[in-house]
Amino acid sequence: AKSDGRGTYQFYKPEMDDRLQRRRMLELDLRAADFDKEFELAFQPIINLQSKAVTAVEALLRWPGCQRGHVTPDEFIPIAESTGLIVQLGAWVLEGACRQAMSLPGKVNVAVNLSPSQFRRGNIVDTVSTVLAMTGLPAERLELEITESLLLDDSKETLLALNRLHALGVLISLDDFGTGYSSLSYLRNFPVDKVKIDRSFIAEIAGNRDHMAIVSAIVNLAHALEITTIAEGVETEEQLLIVRATGCDAVQGHFFSAPKPAAQIRKYLEKPHDR
Ligand code: C2E
Ligand code: CA
Ligand code: CA
Ligand code: CA
Repeated sequence: AKSDGRGTYQFYKPEMDDRLQRRRMLELDLRAADFDKEFELAFQPIINLQSKAVTAVEALLRWPGCQRGHVTPDEFIPIAESTGLIVQLGAWVLEGACRQAMSLPGKVNVAVNLSPSQFRRGNIVDTVSTVLAMTGLPAERLELEITESLLLDDSKETLLALNRLHALGVLISLDDFGTGYSSLSYLRNFPVDKVKIDRSFIAEIAGNRDHMAIVSAIVNLAHALEITTIAEGVETEEQLLIVRATGCDAVQGHFFSAPKPAAQIRKYLEKPHDR
């Protein structure tokens, strides 16, 4: 056993060192990274179930230039988040996403993920208004995806920032809805325009009546509060049909398209579809 310096003891596990070491390496790489050279945005279409049109694309960060091989956002985003590097990286994402949205056909909206650190350590309201002014994207075409963890501590500053963003005209989406600390009061107390129903519910919706009931309940509740619903992670036609039957407004998932580079998503938006 070895001391962690705070008077407690942990059993030594070599694999813990490996993970910690990789984390430290990635942190150093992130600090040194030239964003323009190493990072890219992928875009995934969000399809309205009534009109069957692509109404938005979600920007998802990729790090193809990472020296240490393939690394997923689920690995590097938490590092960027805990080190505060997400403030600069997130601003880079926001600018790139808004720029791409301006050049994509069909005046689609663009959805951008925000980390709690961008609220706590950065001035997110200034960043968003600067990027909108710089790129010329109308505020109504920007959707900011936040998670319940941001709302959890119920701070005055967070509420103020969200209200200011909303006043700019941007839309607020609550991501991964139904996981974690889901509290219905969030939907009342914060300016939420959309909820994205977490992929875990959709994954089992075909074989699990409880999941279908939960999705239906979320959709009904959201609609009662004039909130739009999006089902995440739709992979099969069967899931699509069930989701549609719940009255959900929009879907996103591999059944329609995986996240793709801007050039490919442009082609996807240009060709007429038979959905
Ligand atoms: P998220 O915001 O929930 O994004 C959706 C994730 O689900 C994406 O994973 C997407 O590729 C994946 N996905 C989409 N459709 C399907 C499907 O049909 N089946 C399955 N199995 N997966 C599907 P990705 O791109 O690996 O991103 C993971 C997470 O990393 C995101 O989850 C988000 O929390 C975070 N992230 C990604 N880009 C950014 C960013 O620019 N900023 C911040 N703060 N977080 C980001
Ligand atoms: Ca998201
Ligand atoms: Ca999500
Ligand atoms: Ca997530």
